[in-house]
Amino acid sequence: MAILLFFIGHWYLSLFVQTFFLHRYAAHQMFTMNKFWEKFFYTLTFLFQGSSFLSPYAYGVMHRLHHAYADTENDPHSPKYSKNLFDMMWKTKIIYNDILNHRIKLDPKYTRNVPYWAFIEKIGDNWFSRIAWGTAYSLFYIQFATHWWEFLLLPIHYLMGPVHGAIINWAAHKFGYVNFQVNDTAKNFLPFDFLMFGESYHNNHHKYGGRANFGFKWFELDPAYPIILLLNAIHVIKLKRNNDLNYM
Ligand SMILES: [Zn+2]
Ligand SMILES: [Zn+2]
Repeated sequence: MAILLFFIGHWYLSLFVQTFFLHRYAAHQMFTMNKFWEKFFYTLTFLFQGSSFLSPYAYGVMHRLHHAYADTENDPHSPKYSKNLFDMMWKTKIIYNDILNHRIKLDPKYTRNVPYWAFIEKIGDNWFSRIAWGTAYSLFYIQFATHWWEFLLLPIHYLMGPVHGAIINWAAHKFGYVNFQVNDTAKNFLPFDFLMFGESYHNNHHKYGGRANFGFKWFELDPAYPIILLLNAIHVIKLKRNNDLNYM
């Protein structure tokens, strides 16, 4: 029971910062927030993603490249140009590191207003921190696991951020249904997205890249959207009015 709760908790907390902060804020700027809240969510990203911390800066830039070049040779992660899932994940990691270490020259539109906080970038993206988080997850399992097979879940904890990314970047560009005609292979992977916090409505999202609600049809409930509305109502964030537009 403790393991199940820990797994579900880690899955959804990590997913929340990914969809809310990395995807909808850092990459797409669907809403604004002041520097205090930006640092607050930067810190939550480090705490919730832990061993698999993804830099909001590198994620934001890489994701803009994905939208600009979806399913072309320049797409940072296209199943069309990858031999298999792991090949795609490996290529993504290389491009991610190139962006993070400023090894590729980019048009300013890909980096404009993408948040960057050197302090968390430094403590989040280093092996000491990653191993410490991984050790903490492992100790929790050693303490609370009741069956040997529960340990098979540990690698998902270690790689939670990239696992969430890969599910959408692979599955939602291969399987699912289409609401809108788009110039790439983006699909709505799940009709009712209880697993990926709305990220599954990827065809809708590729059509309207700046729209904070990823659901369109009545059954396409986006669990992140009510949270966004609440944070907007209590003035933590400010939703952009014309949010059907993309960032570019
Ligand atoms: Zn996509
Ligand atoms: Zn996007």
